[in-house]
Amino acid sequence: MAGTETFTFKSEAQQLLDLMIHSLYSQKEIFLRELISNASDALDKLRFEALTDKALKDDAPLRVRVFADPDARTLTVEDNGIGMTRDEVIQNLGTIAHSGTKEFARKVAEVQQGEVTGERLIGQFGVGFYSSFIAADEVTVISRKAGTAEATRWHSKGDGQFDVGAGERDHAGTTVVLHLREADPDNGLEDFTREWKLREIIKRYSDFVQYPIELRTTRKEQPKDDEGNDIEGADAVEVVEWKTVNSMKAIWARNPDDVDAEEYAEFYKHISHDWEAPFETIPLKAEGLFEYRALLFVPDRAPFDLFYRDYKYGLQLYVNRVLIKDRADELLPEWLRFVKGVVDSPDLSLNVSREMLQNDRRVAKIRKKVAKKVVDALAKVQADDRDRYAKFWGNFGRVLKEGVTDFEFADDVKPLLWFDSSHDAEKPTSLAEYVERMKDGQENIYYITGESRAAVEKSPHLEAFRAKGYEVLYLTDPVDEIIVGHLTEFDGKALKSVGKGEVELGTEDEQKAAEEARKQKQEAHASLLEFISNTLDEHIKEVRLSSRLTESPVCLVGDEGDMSPQLQRLLEASGQAAPKQKRILELNPDHPLLARMQGLYDANREDPKLGDFAHLLHGQALLAEGSPLPDPVAFARRVTDLMVGG
Ligand code: ADP
Repeated sequence: MAGTETFTFKSEAQQLLDLMIHSLYSQKEIFLRELISNASDALDKLRFEALTDKALKDDAPLRVRVFADPDARTLTVEDNGIGMTRDEVIQNLGTIAHSGTKEFARKVAEVQQGEVTGERLIGQFGVGFYSSFIAADEVTVISRKAGTAEATRWHSKGDGQFDVGAGERDHAGTTVVLHLREADPDNGLEDFTREWKLREIIKRYSDFVQYPIELRTTRKEQPKDDEGNDIEGADAVEVVEWKTVNSMKAIWARNPDDVDAEEYAEFYKHISHDWEAPFETIPLKAEGLFEYRALLFVPDRAPFDLFYRDYKYGLQLYVNRVLIKDRADELLPEWLRFVKGVVDSPDLSLNVSREMLQNDRRVAKIRKKVAKKVVDALAKVQADDRDRYAKFWGNFGRVLKEGVTDFEFADDVKPLLWFDSSHDAEKPTSLAEYVERMKDGQENIYYITGESRAAVEKSPHLEAFRAKGYEVLYLTDPVDEIIVGHLTEFDGKALKSVGKGEVELGTEDEQKAAEEARKQKQEAHASLLEFISNTLDEHIKEVRLSSRLTESPVCLVGDEGDMSPQLQRLLEASGQAAPKQKRILELNPDHPLLARMQGLYDANREDPKLGDFAHLLHGQALLAEGSPLPDPVAFARRVTDLMVGG
């Protein structure tokens, strides 16, 4: 057995501790919820392990015990769960168990600069165990891993260091002993040695925990004689009893009408480690041949790691109240990865493996129903309260959008999508709202993709649409490129890129007349256009006169099925081979620049300026849409020549 060793907390853990200690967190009592939550997780783990490893089975019923010693000013939370080895103790209680430590450090800096409150930060990172130091100035943990004989003792005053040595424990499990700070009720620090206070806190925050939470209660009793009468003159004796405080009712199994929002919220916090109430609570009960219940939550805020590659998501899967898997991602499509909750099905096997879950048709059914329920709930929020939906969209819109790539749900997800648009700089629009505003004679829904609102707003591609008063959606999120490939129509209207294909705006007659005029000009300039086309052959597959430009001289467009330059860059950035897509150069037939070039061309077809002009046109078109130049140095040289030589 190793002796006692002293360790320093990993810096982010120490920062967190300092925040905990100095945070003005209004509900100081939540540390107890966090400790009970950890204990309950440890019991879940033991129960699950014992399903396959019978040696771990102990006759003792699984439970959490809470007891206070007012004289010593200690409060103890004890469980007979899975316990921890020495290494696990050092790892789990010395670092923050999250991948986002860098992110955390950044946030701590924000707190220090007063941009975010410590409370909010703590909530976002859900850092249970350390909250002990809100109430305690000294914490001792004694833990023994199930199936091992040795116990470990961890101790810290939260001052940068902790020490770890041998401990003693009769059974597997974990005991956390808090040495409480001086009570300070004015600042919310109650006397947590009071029985009634503890009972109240446990009831409020942990009623649904599925194991008994036993509180040690003491009362004075007058000794009685054989007939049950008090014995006169005898000293009262202290009777100690363990009383189960929580109802242990699985909240998802209850009738939703009988559960109030606060109970749901506490349960949500318990499973999600969030510190704030959920945005939406969605109970689900499936009956018939295959029965199950689910309780789903949409969080009120996006977690910091939602877009991390290794973001873990999924629902808790129970089989008849026994937790089988903590984050069963088989139960949720990835585009709903922000959803938290539980599914309980009595019909699944207790020993399901990952492969079985993935291949089980019933699991696929649950996933489908869960997704439908969430989508319906969101549609209702959108219909009932647009502002509230805006909040959801801000948090999770980028994830939900991916749902259009799921053919099973594309039609359900489309009405939930919001995009920025030329209609209103402040407010994004839904597709239905767009359709409602469509002009007479407008047949398609138009969009432009690009890097930012500012970049696309000024794009030459929009000119004809602006002139016509047609609204254009601004798709500026990188995933929009992928999304739009799946979003070919809405409500019978085709979605069309303003940068692809020919533009046909206005009534049929107007279109015909415009087309006729363009053809004539195209013929008049045919030789010049061919010259430009040959000059830019490396980048351009065609040069033609444009019907989409009213102000700018030039722009680049693609054919209907072509890859957009953004998508091309996206694929290249992700390391996928994307064949170079040649584009179409469109010139504004009414721009004086065209007339000038035609003049030069007619005077002397060999004029070296003509080649420079062609390259400059191409460069301008790239710059205007926010694309990089193939050869910036050559572009700069041509501009300089032009400025010098005129
Ligand atoms: P979280 O619970 O969010 O992971 P905590 O800081 O509360 O973060 O706990 C860190 C880790 O310590 C837990 O993930 C768990 O592995 C371990 N742990 C905490 N309390 C217990 C306990 N009572 N029994 C066993 N392991 C525990």
